[in-house]
Amino acid sequence: MDEKAKFIWLDGKLIDWDQAQIHVLTHTLHYGLGVFEGIRCYKCQDKRSAVFRLKDHIRRLFDSAQAMMLEIPFSKDEIYQAVIETLKTNGQKEAYIRPIVFIGDGTMGLYPGENPIRVSIITWGWESYLGKEGLKQGIRAKISSFTRHHVNIMMTKTKTCGNYVNSILAKLEVVKAGYDEAIMLDTEGYVCEATGENIFIIRDKVLKTPPLTSVLPGITRDSIITLAQDLGYKVEEKRFTRDELYIADEAFFSGTAAEVTPIREVDDRQIGEGKPGPITQKIQKLYFDVVKGKIEKYHYWLDFIT
Ligand code: PMP
Repeated sequence: MDEKAKFIWLDGKLIDWDQAQIHVLTHTLHYGLGVFEGIRCYKCQDKRSAVFRLKDHIRRLFDSAQAMMLEIPFSKDEIYQAVIETLKTNGQKEAYIRPIVFIGDGTMGLYPGENPIRVSIITWGWESYLGKEGLKQGIRAKISSFTRHHVNIMMTKTKTCGNYVNSILAKLEVVKAGYDEAIMLDTEGYVCEATGENIFIIRDKVLKTPPLTSVLPGITRDSIITLAQDLGYKVEEKRFTRDELYIADEAFFSGTAAEVTPIREVDDRQIGEGKPGPITQKIQKLYFDVVKGKIEKYHYWLDFIT
Protein backbone atom coordinates (compact mmCIF):
# COMPACT_ATOMS: atom_id res chain seq x y z
CA MET A 1 0.00 0.00 0.00
CA ASP A 2 1.66 3.21 -1.11
CA GLU A 3 -0.48 5.84 0.59
CA LYS A 4 -3.69 5.05 2.40
CA ALA A 5 -6.61 7.44 2.67
CA LYS A 6 -8.61 8.56 5.69
CA PHE A 7 -11.95 7.08 4.64
CA ILE A 8 -13.31 4.09 2.76
CA TRP A 9 -16.80 3.94 1.30
CA LEU A 10 -18.57 0.76 2.42
CA ASP A 11 -22.19 -0.11 1.66
CA GLY A 12 -23.23 3.50 1.24
CA LYS A 13 -21.26 5.16 4.04
CA LEU A 14 -17.81 6.65 4.45
CA ILE A 15 -16.05 5.05 7.39
CA ASP A 16 -12.54 5.24 8.84
CA TRP A 17 -9.93 3.33 6.84
CA ASP A 18 -9.14 1.07 9.80
CA GLN A 19 -12.81 0.34 10.48
CA ALA A 20 -13.41 -1.07 6.99
CA GLN A 21 -13.32 -4.71 8.12
CA ILE A 22 -15.26 -7.72 6.86
CA HIS A 23 -16.13 -11.10 8.38
CA VAL A 24 -13.91 -14.12 7.62
CA LEU A 25 -16.97 -15.95 6.32
CA THR A 26 -17.39 -13.43 3.53
CA HIS A 27 -18.47 -15.63 0.60
CA THR A 28 -16.20 -13.92 -1.96
CA LEU A 29 -13.15 -14.50 0.23
CA HIS A 30 -13.74 -18.26 -0.04
CA TYR A 31 -14.84 -18.71 -3.64
CA GLY A 32 -13.81 -15.60 -5.58
CA LEU A 33 -17.17 -14.53 -6.98
CA GLY A 34 -16.94 -10.76 -6.84
CA VAL A 35 -16.24 -8.04 -9.40
CA PHE A 36 -14.11 -4.95 -9.22
CA GLU A 37 -12.67 -2.01 -11.10
CA GLY A 38 -9.41 -0.12 -11.24
CA ILE A 39 -9.69 3.60 -12.02
CA ARG A 40 -7.27 6.50 -11.76
CA CYS A 41 -7.63 10.13 -10.78
CA TYR A 42 -4.87 12.53 -11.86
CA LYS A 43 -3.84 15.97 -10.71
CA CYS A 44 -4.20 18.54 -13.49
CA GLN A 45 -2.11 21.65 -14.10
CA ASP A 46 -4.84 24.03 -12.94
CA LYS A 47 -5.13 22.50 -9.44
CA ARG A 48 -8.18 20.50 -10.39
CA SER A 49 -8.15 16.70 -10.52
CA ALA A 50 -9.68 14.51 -13.17
CA VAL A 51 -10.98 10.96 -13.00
CA PHE A 52 -10.22 9.21 -16.26
CA ARG A 53 -13.23 7.63 -18.02
CA LEU A 54 -15.14 7.12 -14.78
CA LYS A 55 -18.47 6.41 -16.46
CA ASP A 56 -16.85 3.78 -18.71
CA HIS A 57 -15.33 2.05 -15.69
CA ILE A 58 -18.67 2.08 -13.85
CA ARG A 59 -20.34 0.67 -16.94
CA ARG A 60 -17.77 -2.16 -17.05
CA LEU A 61 -18.34 -2.80 -13.32
CA PHE A 62 -22.07 -3.22 -13.97
CA ASP A 63 -21.36 -5.33 -17.07
CA SER A 64 -19.12 -7.61 -14.98
CA ALA A 65 -21.83 -7.87 -12.32
CA GLN A 66 -24.50 -8.64 -14.93
CA ALA A 67 -22.42 -11.45 -16.45
CA MET A 68 -21.66 -12.87 -13.01
CA MET A 69 -25.28 -12.59 -11.77
CA LEU A 70 -24.48 -10.14 -9.00
CA GLU A 71 -27.14 -7.56 -8.37
CA ILE A 72 -25.47 -4.35 -7.28
CA PRO A 73 -27.70 -2.68 -4.66
CA PHE A 74 -26.83 0.81 -5.97
CA SER A 75 -27.43 2.58 -9.27
CA LYS A 76 -24.62 3.57 -11.64
CA ASP A 77 -25.20 7.17 -10.67
CA GLU A 78 -24.96 6.36 -6.95
CA ILE A 79 -21.60 4.61 -7.52
CA TYR A 80 -20.44 7.56 -9.63
CA GLN A 81 -21.36 10.02 -6.84
CA ALA A 82 -19.76 7.75 -4.24
CA VAL A 83 -16.42 7.74 -6.09
CA ILE A 84 -16.43 11.54 -6.30
CA GLU A 85 -17.48 11.89 -2.65
CA THR A 86 -14.75 9.48 -1.47
CA LEU A 87 -12.02 11.36 -3.35
CA LYS A 88 -13.29 14.75 -2.20
CA THR A 89 -13.69 13.76 1.45
CA ASN A 90 -10.23 12.20 1.45
CA GLY A 91 -8.81 15.34 -0.19
CA GLN A 92 -6.98 13.16 -2.70
CA LYS A 93 -5.77 14.90 -5.82
CA GLU A 94 -4.22 11.80 -7.31
CA ALA A 95 -5.39 8.29 -6.51
CA TYR A 96 -6.03 4.77 -7.67
CA ILE A 97 -9.71 3.96 -7.15
CA ARG A 98 -10.88 0.42 -6.45
CA PRO A 99 -14.64 -0.21 -6.38
CA ILE A 100 -15.41 -3.81 -5.45
CA VAL A 101 -18.71 -5.71 -5.35
CA PHE A 102 -18.64 -8.83 -3.21
CA ILE A 103 -20.89 -11.39 -1.58
CA GLY A 104 -21.09 -11.04 2.18
CA ASP A 105 -21.42 -13.76 4.80
CA GLY A 106 -24.45 -15.98 5.36
CA THR A 107 -24.66 -19.32 3.67
CA MET A 108 -21.34 -21.04 2.98
CA GLY A 109 -22.55 -23.22 0.12
CA LEU A 110 -21.46 -22.44 -3.40
CA TYR A 111 -24.95 -21.25 -4.25
CA PRO A 112 -24.78 -17.80 -2.66
CA GLY A 113 -28.50 -17.73 -1.78
CA GLU A 114 -29.59 -14.67 0.10
CA ASN A 115 -26.16 -13.47 1.18
CA PRO A 116 -25.94 -9.67 0.95
CA ILE A 117 -24.22 -8.09 -2.04
CA ARG A 118 -21.82 -5.56 -0.61
CA VAL A 119 -19.97 -2.69 -2.26
CA SER A 120 -16.87 -0.81 -1.26
CA ILE A 121 -14.81 1.97 -2.83
CA ILE A 122 -11.22 2.25 -1.72
CA THR A 123 -8.83 4.99 -2.86
CA TRP A 124 -5.10 5.12 -2.33
CA GLY A 125 -1.95 6.64 -3.81
CA TRP A 126 -0.36 4.14 -6.19
CA GLU A 127 2.56 4.78 -8.48
CA SER A 128 2.64 3.22 -11.92
CA TYR A 129 2.11 -0.51 -11.39
CA LEU A 130 5.21 -1.69 -13.23
CA GLY A 131 7.38 1.02 -11.69
CA LYS A 132 8.58 4.50 -12.55
CA GLU A 133 11.76 3.05 -14.01
CA GLY A 134 9.69 0.64 -16.13
CA LEU A 135 7.74 3.56 -17.59
CA LYS A 136 11.01 5.22 -18.65
CA GLN A 137 13.24 2.31 -19.64
CA GLY A 138 10.76 -0.42 -20.48
CA ILE A 139 10.34 -3.74 -18.72
CA ARG A 140 11.39 -7.36 -19.23
CA ALA A 141 8.52 -9.75 -19.87
CA LYS A 142 8.24 -13.50 -20.15
CA ILE A 143 5.55 -15.66 -21.69
CA SER A 144 4.01 -17.70 -18.90
CA SER A 145 3.45 -21.44 -19.06
CA PHE A 146 -0.05 -20.67 -17.74
CA THR A 147 -2.67 -20.15 -20.45
CA ARG A 148 -5.22 -17.33 -20.24
CA HIS A 149 -8.76 -18.44 -19.41
CA HIS A 150 -10.88 -20.00 -22.12
CA VAL A 151 -14.05 -18.03 -22.83
CA ASN A 152 -16.23 -20.89 -21.61
CA ILE A 153 -14.31 -21.38 -18.38
CA MET A 154 -14.30 -17.86 -17.04
CA MET A 155 -16.07 -14.72 -18.15
CA THR A 156 -12.97 -13.18 -19.68
CA LYS A 157 -14.57 -9.80 -20.41
CA THR A 158 -15.30 -9.26 -16.73
CA LYS A 159 -13.09 -8.11 -13.91
CA THR A 160 -14.04 -11.00 -11.67
CA CYS A 161 -11.99 -11.52 -8.51
CA GLY A 162 -11.44 -15.24 -9.14
CA ASN A 163 -10.15 -14.64 -12.68
CA TYR A 164 -7.05 -13.14 -11.13
CA VAL A 165 -5.81 -16.42 -9.63
CA ASN A 166 -4.77 -17.26 -13.20
CA SER A 167 -2.92 -13.91 -13.39
CA ILE A 168 -1.23 -14.48 -10.04
CA LEU A 169 0.03 -17.92 -11.10
CA ALA A 170 1.58 -16.38 -14.21
CA LYS A 171 3.00 -13.41 -12.29
CA LEU A 172 4.56 -15.61 -9.59
CA GLU A 173 6.13 -17.84 -12.21
CA VAL A 174 7.88 -15.07 -14.13
CA VAL A 175 8.78 -12.79 -11.22
CA LYS A 176 10.48 -15.74 -9.50
CA ALA A 177 12.40 -16.31 -12.74
CA GLY A 178 13.63 -12.69 -12.63
CA TYR A 179 11.24 -10.94 -15.07
CA ASP A 180 8.92 -8.00 -14.45
CA GLU A 181 5.68 -9.14 -16.03
CA ALA A 182 4.04 -12.21 -17.58
CA ILE A 183 2.45 -12.37 -20.99
CA MET A 184 -0.20 -15.05 -21.40
CA LEU A 185 -1.22 -16.91 -24.54
CA ASP A 186 -4.82 -17.84 -25.26
CA THR A 187 -6.03 -21.43 -25.46
CA GLU A 188 -5.12 -21.55 -29.14
CA GLY A 189 -1.60 -20.30 -28.50
CA TYR A 190 -1.96 -16.71 -29.69
CA VAL A 191 -0.73 -13.77 -27.64
CA CYS A 192 -3.57 -12.67 -25.36
CA GLU A 193 -2.74 -10.18 -22.62
CA ALA A 194 -0.61 -9.70 -19.53
CA THR A 195 -1.67 -10.39 -15.95
CA GLY A 196 -3.29 -6.97 -15.57
CA GLU A 197 -2.64 -5.20 -18.87
CA ASN A 198 -3.47 -5.40 -22.55
CA ILE A 199 -0.65 -5.66 -25.05
CA PHE A 200 0.27 -3.82 -28.24
CA ILE A 201 3.02 -4.49 -30.77
CA ILE A 202 4.26 -2.16 -33.50
CA ARG A 203 5.91 -3.17 -36.76
CA ASP A 204 6.46 -0.89 -39.75
CA LYS A 205 4.50 1.84 -37.93
CA VAL A 206 1.34 -0.30 -37.65
CA LEU A 207 -0.01 -1.08 -34.18
CA LYS A 208 -1.52 -4.46 -33.46
CA THR A 209 -3.45 -5.64 -30.40
CA PRO A 210 -5.34 -8.91 -29.88
CA PRO A 211 -9.10 -8.73 -30.52
CA LEU A 212 -11.46 -8.77 -27.55
CA THR A 213 -12.29 -12.49 -27.77
CA SER A 214 -10.67 -13.62 -24.52
CA VAL A 215 -9.04 -10.42 -23.26
CA LEU A 216 -10.41 -7.83 -20.90
CA PRO A 217 -11.85 -4.88 -22.85
CA GLY A 218 -9.31 -2.50 -21.41
CA ILE A 219 -10.36 1.11 -21.14
CA THR A 220 -6.73 2.15 -21.63
CA ARG A 221 -6.57 -0.17 -24.67
CA ASP A 222 -9.61 1.58 -26.11
CA SER A 223 -8.11 5.01 -25.36
CA ILE A 224 -4.78 4.03 -26.97
CA ILE A 225 -6.54 2.88 -30.14
CA THR A 226 -8.21 6.30 -30.43
CA LEU A 227 -5.05 8.24 -29.59
CA ALA A 228 -2.85 6.23 -32.00
CA GLN A 229 -5.37 6.73 -34.79
CA ASP A 230 -5.56 10.43 -33.99
CA LEU A 231 -1.76 10.54 -34.33
CA GLY A 232 -2.19 9.05 -37.79
CA TYR A 233 -1.21 5.43 -37.10
CA LYS A 234 -3.06 2.40 -38.37
CA VAL A 235 -4.29 0.10 -35.58
CA GLU A 236 -5.28 -3.50 -36.19
CA GLU A 237 -7.22 -5.63 -33.72
CA LYS A 238 -5.84 -8.96 -34.88
CA ARG A 239 -4.48 -12.13 -33.37
CA PHE A 240 -0.71 -12.51 -33.46
CA THR A 241 1.77 -15.19 -32.49
CA ARG A 242 4.65 -15.10 -30.04
CA ASP A 243 7.20 -14.91 -32.84
CA GLU A 244 5.50 -11.76 -34.15
CA LEU A 245 6.02 -10.34 -30.69
CA TYR A 246 9.72 -11.30 -30.73
CA ILE A 247 10.30 -9.51 -34.05
CA ALA A 248 8.20 -6.42 -33.31
CA ASP A 249 9.88 -3.03 -33.65
CA GLU A 250 8.21 -1.92 -30.43
CA ALA A 251 5.83 -3.32 -27.82
CA PHE A 252 4.02 -1.95 -24.81
CA PHE A 253 1.43 -2.78 -22.17
CA SER A 254 -1.64 -0.65 -21.48
CA GLY A 255 -3.69 -0.56 -18.32
CA THR A 256 -5.09 1.81 -15.74
CA ALA A 257 -2.53 0.73 -13.15
CA ALA A 258 0.43 0.18 -15.53
CA GLU A 259 -0.56 3.13 -17.78
CA VAL A 260 1.60 2.84 -20.93
CA THR A 261 4.60 0.69 -20.03
CA PRO A 262 7.12 -0.09 -22.79
CA ILE A 263 8.40 -3.67 -23.16
CA ARG A 264 12.12 -3.86 -23.87
CA GLU A 265 12.57 -7.61 -23.77
CA VAL A 266 10.41 -10.74 -24.17
CA ASP A 267 11.73 -14.23 -23.37
CA ASP A 268 15.32 -12.89 -23.41
CA ARG A 269 14.92 -11.44 -26.88
CA GLN A 270 15.50 -7.72 -27.19
CA ILE A 271 12.53 -5.89 -28.69
CA GLY A 272 13.62 -3.31 -31.27
CA GLU A 273 16.46 -1.25 -29.81
CA GLY A 274 15.90 -2.67 -26.34
CA LYS A 275 14.45 0.60 -25.09
CA PRO A 276 11.12 2.43 -25.49
CA GLY A 277 10.59 2.98 -29.21
CA PRO A 278 9.67 6.35 -30.76
CA ILE A 279 5.99 5.54 -31.40
CA THR A 280 5.55 4.07 -27.92
CA GLN A 281 7.11 7.21 -26.44
CA LYS A 282 4.83 9.44 -28.48
CA ILE A 283 1.73 7.51 -27.40
CA GLN A 284 2.86 7.39 -23.77
CA LYS A 285 3.40 11.16 -23.71
CA LEU A 286 0.04 11.84 -25.32
CA TYR A 287 -1.67 9.46 -22.87
CA PHE A 288 -0.21 11.29 -19.86
CA ASP A 289 -1.12 14.67 -21.35
CA VAL A 290 -4.67 13.45 -21.90
CA VAL A 291 -5.24 11.96 -18.43
CA LYS A 292 -3.80 15.10 -16.82
CA GLY A 293 -6.28 17.28 -18.72
CA LYS A 294 -3.68 19.05 -20.87
CA ILE A 295 -5.55 18.51 -24.13
CA GLU A 296 -9.03 19.94 -24.38
CA LYS A 297 -10.01 17.70 -27.26
CA TYR A 298 -10.08 14.74 -24.86
CA HIS A 299 -11.79 16.44 -21.92
CA TYR A 300 -14.89 14.38 -22.70
CA TRP A 301 -13.03 11.44 -21.08
CA LEU A 302 -12.49 13.36 -17.84
CA ASP A 303 -14.64 14.10 -14.83
CA PHE A 304 -13.09 17.08 -13.12
CA ILE A 305 -13.07 17.46 -9.35
CA THR A 306 -12.44 20.85 -7.83
N1 PMP B 1 -6.30 -7.04 -18.79
C1 PMP B 1 -6.46 -7.41 -17.50
C2 PMP B 1 -6.49 -8.85 -17.17
C3 PMP B 1 -6.59 -6.44 -16.49
O1 PMP B 1 -6.74 -6.80 -15.22
C4 PMP B 1 -6.54 -5.08 -16.85
C5 PMP B 1 -6.65 -4.02 -15.76
N2 PMP B 1 -7.97 -3.66 -15.53
C6 PMP B 1 -6.39 -4.73 -18.19
C7 PMP B 1 -6.27 -5.74 -19.14
C8 PMP B 1 -6.38 -3.29 -18.63
O2 PMP B 1 -7.64 -2.73 -18.47
P1 PMP B 1 -7.83 -1.17 -18.21
O3 PMP B 1 -7.09 -0.47 -19.27
O4 PMP B 1 -9.30 -0.94 -18.28
O5 PMP B 1 -7.27 -0.88 -16.87
